[in-house]
Amino acid sequence: MIQDTMPRRLFSPEHDMFRDQVRRFIDAEVLPYHDQWDEEGVVSREVWEKAGAAGMLCPTVPEEYGGAGADYLFSVVVMEEMARVGASGPGFSIHSEMAAPYLERFGNEDQKSLWLPKFVSGHAISGIALTEPGAGSDLRRMSTSARKTNAGYVLNGQKVFISNGQIGDVFFVAAKTKDEYATDSMSLFLVEADTPGFTRGKNLKKIGAKAQDTSELFFDNVEVPHENLVGGEEGQGFFQLIHGLARERLTIAVSSLAKSEGVFRDTVAYVADRELFHKKLTDFQNTQFKLAEVHTELTVGRCMVDRLLEEYVEGELSAETAAAAKLWTTEMQGRTVDTCLQLFGGWGYMWEYPVARAYAEARVERIAGGSSEVMKSIISKSLFKKMDIRADFS
Ligand SMILES: Cc1cc2nc3c(=O)[nH]c(=O)nc-3n(C[C@H](O)[C@H](O)[C@H](O)COP(=O)(O)OP(=O)(O)OC[C@H]3O[C@@H](n4cnc5c(N)ncnc54)[C@H](O)[C@@H]3O)c2cc1C
Repeated sequence: MIQDTMPRRLFSPEHDMFRDQVRRFIDAEVLPYHDQWDEEGVVSREVWEKAGAAGMLCPTVPEEYGGAGADYLFSVVVMEEMARVGASGPGFSIHSEMAAPYLERFGNEDQKSLWLPKFVSGHAISGIALTEPGAGSDLRRMSTSARKTNAGYVLNGQKVFISNGQIGDVFFVAAKTKDEYATDSMSLFLVEADTPGFTRGKNLKKIGAKAQDTSELFFDNVEVPHENLVGGEEGQGFFQLIHGLARERLTIAVSSLAKSEGVFRDTVAYVADRELFHKKLTDFQNTQFKLAEVHTELTVGRCMVDRLLEEYVEGELSAETAAAAKLWTTEMQGRTVDTCLQLFGGWGYMWEYPVARAYAEARVERIAGGSSEVMKSIISKSLFKKMDIRADFS
C-alpha cells in the first residue's frame, strides 16, 4: 500500500506480491542510478531490459505476443511504485500504457508479432510523436506530411517534446495525409528509428524529470511501406488517438496521485524530525493543519482514482471522466508539492532533496498529455452535449 490511512480493496494477493517485487526492483535497479541518469539526461537501456525481465513492461500485452496477459491493475502497480519514489527517469508508462496499446489495437499481425515481444522484454523502446513546435493542443495545425507513393509514404516534418525520443527504437508518428485543418487529415505511422532520413535532435533541457529524455525528431524524406500506416486507412489518426485517451489520462491520474502520496510521506517524516524554536516542526498548528489539508486532498483523490480504476477495468470509463481525473489530480499534485516544499524551508529548494525534484516534475503534469485547459474543454463540451446546449469550442 502507498498510504496506510485508507484501505484499498482493488488489489488481489497476486497484485500485492507483484508490488513487493516491483519495489525490490526499483530499490536495486532504479534508485541507485537515478542521480547519474539525471546528469546524463537519459536512463540506461539496461534498466529497460531488466524491467522487461522482471515483467514490468507492458504487463497487459496478451501471452501470444510475449506478454503476461495481466489485468490493468498490474500496470497500475508499476506506475504507482515508480511514482511513489519519484523515479521519473524511465519512460515506462508512455511505452507500456500509450504506445503498446495502439499497436495492440490497431497494428497488423506482422507488426504485433514483431514489436510487442520486444516491447515486453525491453529490447525495443517506443514513443508517441504528435507534438510539433507550432502544434500541441491544436494538433490539426500540424505540418508534418505523409505523401503517398507507389512504395508507401514519404514523411517530412519535425516533432518536439517527444518522450523516449533519444532512446526510442520505434515511434508512432502523426502526419497529415491531407493538407487540411480537419479531423480526418491526420494519420499515424509506425516509424523505426533506423529508417534513412529519420534523425534525433537535441535532448531538451527541462526544469524537472531530467533523467527522462525529451527530444526533437526530424523527418527528411523518410520512406515507410504502406503497411506502416497504422490501421491501414488514411485519416484515422485522431480517432485512433481518441480511443486511447481514457486509459492515458487515467494513467496520468494514477501517477500524479502516487507522486503526491510519496511527497506527503517524505514530508511527514521530515517535519517529525525537524526542530526549531525548541519545538518539533510538527508541534506548530500551522504544520498540523497543512498536513491535514494535504491528507484530506489525498484521501479525496484516492477515492476518485480507485473508483475510476474499477470503472476502467469494467470497461465503463468515459473520456470526460478520465479528463476530470487528470485535471483534478494534477492540479492537486501542484498544490501538494508546493505545500510540502514550504514545510522543508530552504532545504526544499535544494535539488538533492526529493521534494525539490517532485516540485519541478509536478509542473509538467498540468501541461503534457492534454493541458488542464484542454481537460476543462472536454469536460464542459460533454456537459453541454448532455444538456443539448450549443457552444463554440473551436
Ligand atoms: C516533458 C514533456 C513531455 C512530453 N511528451 C510528449 C510526447 O511523448 N509526445 C508528444 O507528442 N508530445 C509530448 N509532449 C507535448 C505536450 O503534449 C504538449 O506540450 C501539450 O499538448 C501542450 O501543447 P503546447 O506545448 O504546444 O502548448 P499550446 O497548445 O500552445 O498551449 C499553450 C497554452 O494554451 C492553452 N490552451 C490550449 N487549448 C486551450 C483552450 N481550448 N482554451 C484555453 N486555453 C487553451 C494551454 O493549456 C496552454 O496553457 C510533452 C511535453 C512535455 C513538456
